[in-house]
Amino acid sequence: MSDNFDVIVIGGGPGGYPFAIRAAQLGMKALCIDNWVNHDGTYSFGGTCLNAGCIPSKALLESSELFHRAQHEFDVHGIGVGTVALDLKKMIDRKTAVSKANSGGVQMLFKGNKVTGLFGTGKLLGGGKVEYTDHDGKKDTYSAKHIVIATGSAPVNLTKIAPFDGERVVDSWGALEFTEVPKKLGIIGAGVIGVELGSVWSRLGSETVILEALPSFLPMVDAAISKEALRQLTKQKLDIRLGAKVLSAKIGKNEVAVEYEQDGEKKSISFDKLIVAVGRRPYTEGLGCEVAGVKLDERGFVKIDAHYKTSAEGIYAVGDVTGGAMLAHKAIEEGVVLAEQLAGEKSEVNYKAVPSVIYTNPEIAWVGLSEEQATKEGFEIKTGSSPFAANGRARAMEATPGMIKFISDAKTDRVLGVHMIGPYVSELLAEAVLALEFGATTEDIQLTMHGHPTLSETFHEAALAVDGHAIHSANKPKKAKA
Ligand code: FAD
Ligand code: AMP
Repeated sequence: MSDNFDVIVIGGGPGGYPFAIRAAQLGMKALCIDNWVNHDGTYSFGGTCLNAGCIPSKALLESSELFHRAQHEFDVHGIGVGTVALDLKKMIDRKTAVSKANSGGVQMLFKGNKVTGLFGTGKLLGGGKVEYTDHDGKKDTYSAKHIVIATGSAPVNLTKIAPFDGERVVDSWGALEFTEVPKKLGIIGAGVIGVELGSVWSRLGSETVILEALPSFLPMVDAAISKEALRQLTKQKLDIRLGAKVLSAKIGKNEVAVEYEQDGEKKSISFDKLIVAVGRRPYTEGLGCEVAGVKLDERGFVKIDAHYKTSAEGIYAVGDVTGGAMLAHKAIEEGVVLAEQLAGEKSEVNYKAVPSVIYTNPEIAWVGLSEEQATKEGFEIKTGSSPFAANGRARAMEATPGMIKFISDAKTDRVLGVHMIGPYVSELLAEAVLALEFGATTEDIQLTMHGHPTLSETFHEAALAVDGHAIHSANKPKKAKA
């Protein structure tokens, strides 16, 4: 036995590392064990988010967006740039450097907060003990009063339909590391990851087809917003085929041949590369859940109660491995709140105000209920929206597509949800999250002055539109009885 800790967290992604830091800030002796190995063989903290998810995908979205704008938008501003050349290796290397800077930052934070961080694998032994195996196979055992599972998730592999081969058929991580731009790119799944990766590669020149089994596009987003999103992305030549269920993918010498069913008809199409982006599954392989008495649900997620307690005494779980919204900020909040609860504080996560963002262009962002969800839940609602075309700053930016829509309670005036598509709505969303967190009424926002000219004026105008007060756009307030 090497050492005793107050808390041990297995997994150093957005669930695990903030837990360890907050626990240490609260005076607990904390250990974080993480076994992430990058494609270049290096180890790093930060999990999927920093190494293969949020951060590298946003780095490539930014680069590909600049490439696209230099080619298609600069001219409108009177800027001639001649031929715009792509250095893909440099772009991918920059993306990797951005990830490494972020994950290196976690190690600095561990140092600063006196968290012990170890690279290697953690395994539950039961009785408050964790077995640690380093990357050379050397084992040790640590014990702690509280043990936290934050082992995250892994991409779903369609083993029977389109299994990953890491070459032609890849997961989202592989799709962040292509060494050349695929001429013809196929993507299975038009979820958040599918449309973001589709945007990256189509901007860089891939003829991109996304096959989505569901008949509707982004069904979790308000229908007015998802309709506009589909229109905008289709205009950018992303070929999104809905109601298209992939049946098989056969890897040939130079291509991958995909069969899918749409409108009761079998169809086929070939691609140079195929990205499978059909969701993520909880990751608990080799963790020892059975030995420790940690129960999983029928889909493999770790079962927890409202205080993140698993079925085993002294063992907790946070983040993707517990299900719910598979988002980094949700994992972070859970980790922080759990540390505070273990220290006797009364903090909790507000699951009604979880922000969601899709980093396409225009961006899509939402919090709270859509009109469809609010109606289904029996609310008597009123809605209002405002387009970015009526916003001076958006015009100056050549970024007029999109709008913001409010969904409010007609009886209490409370804001139930805000759904948006448009420039930098990822940033504008924070105001809506705060509104929900503070239980704001639509009037609270109507009475709040917004700077001019800013994109946030569209947020204000949309709130005004709910009651027919919008100044700069047509008022089409809508009241709907459930
Ligand atoms: P993870 O980040 O998966 O971390 C788990 C860690 O545990 C990993 O490092 C793993 O190696 C380690 N581990 C597993 N088992 C063991 C073990 N036995 N011993 C030691 N270590 C172990 N979310 C957003 O909010 N915004 C985004 O923009 C966004 N973009 C994304 C883009 C892509 C392409 C992908 C794939 C995901 C994206 N996500 C995004 C989702 C986000 O990455 C996850 O929700 C988040 O990483 C979950 O955090 P976690 O700590 O629960 O798990
Ligand atoms: P998400 O879970 O948000 O990453 O989205 C994954 C998407 O993949 C969902 O919208 C699924 O409907 C879709 N999907 C899953 N299996 C298939 C399949 N065989 N063919 C086409 N789309 C699929």
